[in-house]
Amino acid sequence: MDFPRHACAYAERLATTCEPFRRQLEPDARELDGDDGCSADPFGEQDDAAGTYGLKQRFPDRVLVMTSDSCFMNCRHCTRKGILRDAEVVRTDEELQNCVGYVKAHPQVRDVLLSGGDPLVLPDGEVLRFVEAFAALDQIEVVRLCTRAPCVNPERVTDGLARSLRSCGKVWVNTQFNCAGEVTPDATVACGRLVDAGLPVSCQTVLLAGVNDSVEAMLDLFRALQRARVRPYYVFQCDPVAGISHFRVPLEKAKMIAAECAERIGGLALPRFVADIPGAARKIPVEEL
Ligand code: SF4
Repeated sequence: MDFPRHACAYAERLATTCEPFRRQLEPDARELDGDDGCSADPFGEQDDAAGTYGLKQRFPDRVLVMTSDSCFMNCRHCTRKGILRDAEVVRTDEELQNCVGYVKAHPQVRDVLLSGGDPLVLPDGEVLRFVEAFAALDQIEVVRLCTRAPCVNPERVTDGLARSLRSCGKVWVNTQFNCAGEVTPDATVACGRLVDAGLPVSCQTVLLAGVNDSVEAMLDLFRALQRARVRPYYVFQCDPVAGISHFRVPLEKAKMIAAECAERIGGLALPRFVADIPGAARKIPVEEL
């Protein structure tokens, strides 16, 4: 698997002070374990089922648009680590307009996820080109910007970017923090810029062995996120992707962490612990598995 070590300067610094974060950055020989029985693409994102370059649809009401094939750091647990390099990335106006055309032809779509890779590796103007193209459609109620920048490169989240995103309307920011040590003062400022501009910000955490697989680690994270005014939204089981099985937490342990957290923290700071299962019509709460 060709997924090189890569991190921006901020992420490199954070890795020297936050051990759980460092484990998300450093390659591990176990990533090359060919016996984990998992596919590089369990969700079929390399299939061209939608027939539109750079656009993926798994659920009726939302689509994902690939805006980039790079990130501020290569997370070792990334779901797309085996396919990002060959991802269909929307770059030209024609490709973007084809995606817009697909959405118009599917009026049940109300939610567009701008993902990748990380959309915020693009300059502001490019980010806004994507946002504005979809926000202009009456049927679209939410444009989700999926970015780890507030955590791994908080300086990228400027007041100007936050204001521009807000002025487009419809933008929600989905980010990823996996441990309390990642919610640094810099990250808190970055999240505050988004929130103060009027953007809803929520966090999708990944449950990772050796990083955050304890009740205390999770509670510390949820409290830190709430102090930063970020809504803990989901905690995902590690996806069944090749090369990340050493991060996977056994289901019974995930259920235990979810149940204990629910008893010890208020609902506003309590995310749903879920699994994304290939072929399922929705995210499945771990207690149903
Ligand atoms: S920021 Fe997201 S897309 Fe990029 S490597 Fe990390 S998990 Fe993967």
